[in-house]
Amino acid sequence: MNLTLSPRSLYRLPWNFSDNAISWLEPTSMCNLYCDGCYRENRSGSHKTLREVQHELDVFERLRNCDSVSIAGGEPLSHPEIVEIVAMVRRKGWKPVINTNGALLTRDLLRELKRAGVTGFTFHVDSGQNRPGWNGKDEGELNALRQEFADMLHEAGGLTCSFNATVYPETLSQVPALLEWGQRNIDRVHVMVFINYRMAILGKDFDFYVGDTRVHFDDMMYSKKDDQRRTDISSPEVVDMIRTKYPDFMPCAYLGGTERSDSFKWLMTGRMGNRHRIFGYIGPKFMELTQTWNHLVTGKYLAYAAPALQRRGRLYFLLAPLDRGIRRIAASYFKALLIAPAAFFSRVHFQSVMIIQPADVHENGSIDMCDGCPDITVWNDQLVWSCRMEEQVRWGQNMRMVPRKQEV
Ligand code: SF4
Repeated sequence: MNLTLSPRSLYRLPWNFSDNAISWLEPTSMCNLYCDGCYRENRSGSHKTLREVQHELDVFERLRNCDSVSIAGGEPLSHPEIVEIVAMVRRKGWKPVINTNGALLTRDLLRELKRAGVTGFTFHVDSGQNRPGWNGKDEGELNALRQEFADMLHEAGGLTCSFNATVYPETLSQVPALLEWGQRNIDRVHVMVFINYRMAILGKDFDFYVGDTRVHFDDMMYSKKDDQRRTDISSPEVVDMIRTKYPDFMPCAYLGGTERSDSFKWLMTGRMGNRHRIFGYIGPKFMELTQTWNHLVTGKYLAYAAPALQRRGRLYFLLAPLDRGIRRIAASYFKALLIAPAAFFSRVHFQSVMIIQPADVHENGSIDMCDGCPDITVWNDQLVWSCRMEEQVRWGQNMRMVPRKQEV
């Protein structure tokens, strides 16, 4: 089986600046946690009014087609009108997905959000969050917290449940354990997301400019002086680590970079199985069919499939003639009848795994962003990268990095 990752062996997702699967709304930048690597300034009193939120949704409607809106921040559940904000997104015909650290989520609030039309939640849980009561816990120990959120959503029913974790150099080796937990909960966890740690380490290599003005970047949220840790973990590296536990782990689709076509900025994998066994990984054709068909029928690229569909894995076998990944999955499934009957007679679920490789700085100062960024947000009636919004807040535009001439 060819496990090579290349732009030719994977499907380039069709998501682009004006027609994407996702958009990113920030009703607040206030947060109750302080995550290592966060790129948003934690500003008190920064809750937007419903009128401001409505205005941003109108800007999205005018400038960008999408399937779902990630409601993020800061901590969106800290916004007192979060229920109404979900309803506003739903009224626009988009799927509201709340990106939260979960600390403020109660069963009562969950009921209200479900009534307002929330599609799902992406819980940000990892060991870099300084989370009260969980400080010092490693990723494996944090599975107990993830379990609480996954069970809460499963109990509520009908909601997409995703988890994201930042991959730090010191936690890269723990990624396989997270995917094992994801497999044990494949009946209730639909997406696992890994975001590679990024930070602008200030040193002697670059100066920062806005237009032709040199600027200071020292106190920018995503810059540090004295952090010796790597800030260049790549998505293929994370795949290699995952393969230490799942040797045939194989992505199917990607988003490249704005500077390099072969940098896998968003690397998507679809796996099928149950808690007994992973039968295999969907191929590029399956994802191409899914995105194209969804756009044909609904006019939008697909962000989140319905949970009910994700638990009908055997249905996907119908696409075996068109996708080699599905053929392999079906073959492995029927083989299980003899070698793992419990796996054969259990339901087959679909689960996505997404690896995100944020901004990469090249020696010449060029910054490789995600080409077709799904996390585009609104600033001053324009669409901007949410991960670099602090530059918009400070200078009204993105900065550029210029290699500093090295003293000879
Ligand atoms: S460009 Fe930035 S905001 Fe957009 S997807 Fe990549 S990391 Fe996220």
